[in-house]
Amino acid sequence: MRGEEDVKKQSYVIKPHLRKDLPVISHGKGIHLYDQEGKRYIDGCSGAVCASIGHGVEEIVQAMIDQAKKISFTYRSQFTSEAVESLAKRLSEWAPGDINWSFFVNSGSEATETAMKIAIQYWQEKGLNGKNKVISRWMSYHGITMGALSMSGHVLRRKRFIPLLEEFPVVSPPYCFRCPLAQTFPTCKLACAKELEIAITRIGEENIAAFIAESIIGAAGGAVVPPFGYYQEIREICTKHNILFIADEVMTGMGRTGANFGIDHWGVTPDIIALGKGMSAGYTPMAAAMVSDQIIEEIAGGSASIMSGHTYSANPQSAAVSLAVVEYMEKNQLVANARLIGSYLIKELTGLKQQFSLIGDVRGLGLMVGLELVKSKESLETFPLQLGITNRLIAKAMEKGLLVYPASGGLDGRAGDCVMITPPLNVSIEEIDQIISILEATIQELSIELIKEGILQA
Ligand code: PLP
Repeated sequence: MRGEEDVKKQSYVIKPHLRKDLPVISHGKGIHLYDQEGKRYIDGCSGAVCASIGHGVEEIVQAMIDQAKKISFTYRSQFTSEAVESLAKRLSEWAPGDINWSFFVNSGSEATETAMKIAIQYWQEKGLNGKNKVISRWMSYHGITMGALSMSGHVLRRKRFIPLLEEFPVVSPPYCFRCPLAQTFPTCKLACAKELEIAITRIGEENIAAFIAESIIGAAGGAVVPPFGYYQEIREICTKHNILFIADEVMTGMGRTGANFGIDHWGVTPDIIALGKGMSAGYTPMAAAMVSDQIIEEIAGGSASIMSGHTYSANPQSAAVSLAVVEYMEKNQLVANARLIGSYLIKELTGLKQQFSLIGDVRGLGLMVGLELVKSKESLETFPLQLGITNRLIAKAMEKGLLVYPASGGLDGRAGDCVMITPPLNVSIEEIDQIISILEATIQELSIELIKEGILQA
């Protein structure tokens, strides 16, 4: 067996960068992570916007043990379990409108891909076999598996696989900071939402199953919040043209933005919701495609079986953990906390924006907040990607004991820098102050370096 020393000497794990080492994690508690060298990090991004209740929560550990003592695995075609039934019931209470049904999977990519398959099958059950395209937006990320990547308008992540991908991203993102249509809200009259109707007309609604969008754009844009009225318009267009609306809530769902789901901020009910990440707060892989009564009734009255599923779908061990996470969130009112602390975080970051020319925009809702970095506040010019400004900021913050999350900025996906601050939803005001103070020191240091290198003007 390889001991700790060996792990450091030789690793056979394929890591994100094959020539770079990573610190070895030891343990975590609350918003803190500790590596084996004893260094402490503030988890300012909940890992990958995932660990929403912080680390080492006793109730969750207990729920894991309790469920493991009963049963850890059953196959979804042979048994259901109390854990999975209770979780689905709880999620139906969290979800808007008649979104009551959960198809459990293991990752956000599987959730969006399952959502796509359900949408296509729904129309097939109605005899409309041609409706199988899913329209999406540029500046979006719906996952890394081929179906999910086909829907993703993430230029860099698509690039290597373009010949294998469907050309699903067709409409502009609601990115007011750099409006892709060169307009300004509200005089634009939501031209970016209306673009969806133009796209539907061009492609033909008889060929389209659904439109998918992240309610607030995450990794592809750094917490881009659409303007008021955007999703009401999208909902109307989808309904008018017989197209299902899939809200990708993998990052924004389960309280992250200070509402149960990001889409709740617009008071809109989609037809399908994709969930992941915060659903189990990182304690176990768990995700779901949630669908409306109407969709289930249609399929139940037809083939009565959704053509999808994975070996680990709806396994009781993960369901019990996820249920414990949801109960913990309810007991500690973490959705309200995300709303409250999130507005404090945005206020403090706006203060930093006034202090540093490097910060072009502060945006987000609840505890999903993005900073877009610019070369000049006047021109909003972006840095070329090869300068790696985002990664430099992230590495500096990590050196100082703060983890922040990378995102893309800029219009074409080939230039632009963003980081996201997305701490666990039970973060306190004092902890936010610590995050801000490290971030301030980080941006100060980076700005000085960039000025010296002639990249940023003094
Ligand atoms: N959808 C959104 C909005 C995401 O942010 C992500 C991951 O970051 C995914 C889907 C894919 O989730 P996963 O990485 O769990 O497959």
